[in-house]
Amino acid sequence: MVIKISEFLQKDIRFVTGVGEARAKQFNKIGVYVAEDILYYFPRNYEDRTKIKNIIELVDGETICIKGMAVSKVAESRIRKGLTLYKILIRDTTEAITATWYNQKYVANRIKLEERYVFYGKVSVKFGKKEIMNPIFEEADSNQYTQKIVPVYPLTASMTQKVVQNIVGNCLKAVDQGVQEFLPHWVRGKYMLAEINYALKNIHFPDDYHSFMKARRRFVFEELFLLQLGLFRIRHKSQQLEGIPFKDVPELQGFINRLPFSLTEAQQKVLMEIQPDLKSGKPMNRLVQGDVGSGKTVIAMLTMYMSVKNGYQAALMAPTEILAEQHYKGFSDFFAKENMKICLLTGSMTKKQKKAIMEDIQEGSADIIIGTHALIQEQIEFHGLGLVVTDEQHRFGVKQRATLASKGKNPHVLVMTATPIPRTLALILYGDLDISIIDQLPPGRKKVETYSIDDSKRKRLYDFLRKQIAEGRQGYIVCPLIEESEALQVKSAVQYAKNLKESALTECNIGLLHGKISAKEKEGIMRNFMNGDIDILVSTTVIEVGVDVPNATIMVIENAERFGLSQLHQLRGRVGRGQYQSYCILFNDSKSKVSRERMKIMQETNDGFRISEKDLQLRGPGEFFGTRQHGLPDLKIANLFSDMDILKLAQEAANHLLEIDADLLHKEHRLLRQRLMKVFDSRIKDLMLN
Ligand code: ADP
Ligand code: MG
Repeated sequence: MVIKISEFLQKDIRFVTGVGEARAKQFNKIGVYVAEDILYYFPRNYEDRTKIKNIIELVDGETICIKGMAVSKVAESRIRKGLTLYKILIRDTTEAITATWYNQKYVANRIKLEERYVFYGKVSVKFGKKEIMNPIFEEADSNQYTQKIVPVYPLTASMTQKVVQNIVGNCLKAVDQGVQEFLPHWVRGKYMLAEINYALKNIHFPDDYHSFMKARRRFVFEELFLLQLGLFRIRHKSQQLEGIPFKDVPELQGFINRLPFSLTEAQQKVLMEIQPDLKSGKPMNRLVQGDVGSGKTVIAMLTMYMSVKNGYQAALMAPTEILAEQHYKGFSDFFAKENMKICLLTGSMTKKQKKAIMEDIQEGSADIIIGTHALIQEQIEFHGLGLVVTDEQHRFGVKQRATLASKGKNPHVLVMTATPIPRTLALILYGDLDISIIDQLPPGRKKVETYSIDDSKRKRLYDFLRKQIAEGRQGYIVCPLIEESEALQVKSAVQYAKNLKESALTECNIGLLHGKISAKEKEGIMRNFMNGDIDILVSTTVIEVGVDVPNATIMVIENAERFGLSQLHQLRGRVGRGQYQSYCILFNDSKSKVSRERMKIMQETNDGFRISEKDLQLRGPGEFFGTRQHGLPDLKIANLFSDMDILKLAQEAANHLLEIDADLLHKEHRLLRQRLMKVFDSRIKDLMLN
């Protein structure tokens, strides 16, 4: 019996009663493929239909159940073309109420005179006359859709709540409480977690609030526990590997002294954390988190220097060609002076160029290799790769990092991210890495002055822009965000730039960047901006992370209310990189309290950690992380902000489990191991378990 159910759970959803071909396709679109996925398709909300009131007690505006008898036939009244009302009078022992349906003749006709029903809907009371609008109803003793807590699912087009509710119900019926528990007994006991069948039933159709909370707590724990366990396993496995033991590099201090600035204390601290890793004989796996402009690049540079001095190549992978080029230019002087050969490899190079560079890499004449994804896509062979650095880690997945590392024999890995997140959360998302934080900006940075304005100040803003440009400065304008479609977005950006050119900023050179521009054109435009040939760069959100144009002093963001705080902060980080006072202007036309609060935060602080914390609070972590793109399982139910206490427990449990049975080989951990394999993306499974 048990076997049968586990087989059923892996069956295509087409075989679940009520699904079929057409609906299966719809479900596939939202990531539901097998029966088990349906059970894990959690409601986004619930409607409490448990309360029944006497009609006489009803008040205007409430949504509630009433139990009563139909005491009139259906009265039909055509209001206008396309709108017909169907009304029935309902009576309980206290009073009468009219039930009204819009255009739903078949619904109203199902009600039989003098039969008793439960109705659930929104009540209006006007001049003492009571009405319940478009109520859901069923026979008084049916209890299927009323008198209970009903799940509200996230829907796709052409699915209805009832359909999904029924399908989930059928699926629960089919497994008949026979789903095998995969959480070890000791974990459930110690953390007081509900059993899986109980939890499945009550997450979908809770008996009451208390049962729902128990069910939810179990799934939140389960989700975070599996995520932690997976990441800890990746880390554990990499710690078993033999790394390349680097030796101390006495010349490093001289190299540091030749930099045009002295390191901040925070940078020194991070460097001190990196050095022992390199010497340990195990591969380093370290994340450097630091706010925009905190100076992560130089940390990468120094670490790469140590690698080359130890006789090993070092590679740096950046998410875009612009960034890769920028690093290449920035590093070139330094490394040339040290007699190290540096080379650049990007996708847009010609075959011939690539070939020459790849030969240099292979025969070992290239010491420092900087590139884009091309570094993992091309068939490159390194000549002893000692260190891999990925810049702007949030754009790369666990797997991409590993692919690059696999080009060497367990090289050291350093990842850098400018999305500062609170440490507790970093431990989750980057649970496979050690973490260093640069929590200080280089001295002398001027705070970017930030203003939130509405349309009435537009003219003044343009005057200000012209003035800054006359003084030789440059600026960015991020276009209105249009979410409906990329095509519309592009169209509006083109129009926007044209309008600016024709009216407000006629005398300025305006460049335009958007998603439909080819990589090559884009680079040309960026280069012109860097050279100062473009005064104002109008851009959709494709504007590059990490771009460093110190002469740019103004960042204007249209529709700022539509961006996440962290994104605004990233965009703002494009200015304030040089000696000039810089400004960030946020257009906010929304009067909502939340958006006003968000603008206020942006004006008050330049601290990325604080901003990301607020962002999490206001937006929720799902959107914030985009775990999918990391190859990690989605968080379907856990909220990393409000479920912090459960998170800590899940971490503790995962840690404990690794202490007692790191490879999950005990009999009582067998199912957990299987489960872990299932939820993690196939791309990173092999990093985690063998
Ligand atoms: P990010 O952390 O955003 O990648 P970068 O590494 O690009 O920041 O550094 C931003 C700017 O600060 C660069 O122009 C860099 O040369 C400069 N910088 C880095 N460290 C220092 C320092 N200790 N003192 C002064 N300037 C620094
Ligand atoms: Mg950077």
